[in-house]
Amino acid sequence: MVQRIVLTDDQRKALYEALDNQQTYTEMADLIGVCVDTIKRILHREGIREFDGAKYAVSPANRLNRLNQEQWDRPCLKCKKRVPRPHGHWLCPKCSKSNSGLWAGVDEDWLAK
Ligand SMILES: [Zn+2]
Repeated sequence: MVQRIVLTDDQRKALYEALDNQQTYTEMADLIGVCVDTIKRILHREGIREFDGAKYAVSPANRLNRLNQEQWDRPCLKCKKRVPRPHGHWLCPKCSKSNSGLWAGVDEDWLAK
């Protein structure tokens, strides 16, 4: 089995900053210490960035799991408000919707783990 890399909060923030700074995936991969392909998977899985293609698609079983997922109220990465939302959603629904540009296309569904 492939080992799942779990991002620390610091790593996650670093990735968001890297995206803001329009750094390359190679640079982001170096930040985390993984290969480029892995960084793309992580970005996708974390809902930080969405990629086209079935390669990164989530299985139907995982989709079902999301429906029963636990909630959390961590401060939103943007507005810092504690809004209850599914575990793994780093932005509150409001910020998630108001995002554009780099953030565009990140479906609520993908923000879940
Ligand atoms: Zn917010």
